Amino acid sequence: MTPLAQIIRKKIETEGPISVGTFMELALGHPEYGYYRTRDPLGRSGDFTTAPEISQIFGELLGLWVADMWMQMGSPPRFSFVEIGPGRGTLMADAMRATRKIKGFHDAARIVLVETSPVLTEKQKKTLVSYDVLWADSIDNPAVENGEGPIILLANEFLDTLSLRQLQLYRNEWYERVVVNKEAGFAFDVSNQVYDSEIAAYGATDGAIFETSPEREAFIRNLSGLIHVRGGAALLIDYGHDRAGLGETLQAIRAHRFVSVLEDVGENDVTSHVDFSALARVAKLADMYIYGPAGQGVFLESLGIRQRAEMLMWGKPPVQQKEIVEGMRRLTHSAQMGQLFRVMALCHDVNLRPAGF
Ligand code: SAH
Repeated sequence: MTPLAQIIRKKIETEGPISVGTFMELALGHPEYGYYRTRDPLGRSGDFTTAPEISQIFGELLGLWVADMWMQMGSPPRFSFVEIGPGRGTLMADAMRATRKIKGFHDAARIVLVETSPVLTEKQKKTLVSYDVLWADSIDNPAVENGEGPIILLANEFLDTLSLRQLQLYRNEWYERVVVNKEAGFAFDVSNQVYDSEIAAYGATDGAIFETSPEREAFIRNLSGLIHVRGGAALLIDYGHDRAGLGETLQAIRAHRFVSVLEDVGENDVTSHVDFSALARVAKLADMYIYGPAGQGVFLESLGIRQRAEMLMWGKPPVQQKEIVEGMRRLTHSAQMGQLFRVMALCHDVNLRPAGF
């Protein structure tokens, strides 16, 4: 049993069953043993590979997206260029390289990385050594809140790290799904308290699962508040769906394979699909204008991924040309990341027209 599993076992022993959300929060974010506190999970030798690690074009196009938003805002002399959950800093490095010829952009951009992992912060420091960077541990931090000018924020595969709540149907009532101790480890169960909600049970049979994420919604509420006060825009990319529905998407991944959510706690990445419809609803209530969600494939094509790939291939040996084409294909093809990954933009001003939608 992992040290974190022992800690959670004790907690359940003394406090009773814990919600799926609390379990996920501890698995990923426990200050000492949480998955994201202890390792760099990315890449071939890690647990999963993300878009910026697949192709440099991803970060380049996102950088140009940010520069276009900045110009649409009237090229303000200062703005906060924020990335939350920046991994190895690859996306930010590609974004900055792609925008270095845009007049005034680098002078205006104050880069802020919002990160909780000490291991990844070290990597980001190395990747971005030639830039002035501020770090913050959340968006409710003076480095983000008190910046000058508007804010433009990028988040790729960040929302899915925020915890999930699961409800389960039993005799026409919804109950909170919880984790309990069993002799051999952990097991799922339902709490004995009816969850008072308006989720329609029509068509759902006993055992059906409905997922919500108060933590993701709270993040979008905070982000919208921030954009409302400072002006600006955000681009959110993650795997997920555009409409809420029944069904379980909670999953654990290790070394590029699905594994049990309840085993080896702290050693597996625990995630779930993001319900973009719920996030759009929260953002609209906070007076944001919403674009998307669109498929990542369509989004990147409309930002010119093909043209950029052709340019990159020019004069390169065939092996590298093949890599460039394969990277583009992985990001855009509907059988790969093109459909499952959704892109949504928020902005404060009706006159802004985020590119790619
Ligand atoms: N965007 C990167 C990394 C995605 S992995 C890429 O596309 O490659 C998720 C990232 O979110 C990691 O950098 C992880 O350390 C960070 N993270 C996890 N929980 C976080 C939190 N609560 N606040 C900020 N960053 C967090």
